[in-house]
Amino acid sequence: MKLPSQIKRYCPYCKAHTLQKVVQVKGGKRGTMTAGSRRKLYNIEHGYGSTPYPMFEHAKRMGVKQTKRYDIRYKCTKCGKMTTQSRGNKAKKLEIK
Ligand SMILES: [Zn+2]
Repeated sequence: MKLPSQIKRYCPYCKAHTLQKVVQVKGGKRGTMTAGSRRKLYNIEHGYGSTPYPMFEHAKRMGVKQTKRYDIRYKCTKCGKMTTQSRGNKAKKLEIK
């Protein structure tokens, strides 16, 4: 998916349409892991249920999850505040021109 680097979009802080920069956010810092996330990590490495191989490999073998959800945010050039999309975009590859 190709995106322009600037889009005219509604800013809820300015309450008007303003020019906004497209920013791709990469994963944040991880805090203390909960029991659930530790379990998830174990499953990713060791497989889950009747699946003896890792989840990632399983997905690869089954041919699922060809796309990834990207976290795209918009930074207002007028007030400098970031606005997010509710669910983000799904795409194989993301390009910001
Ligand atoms: Zn704004």
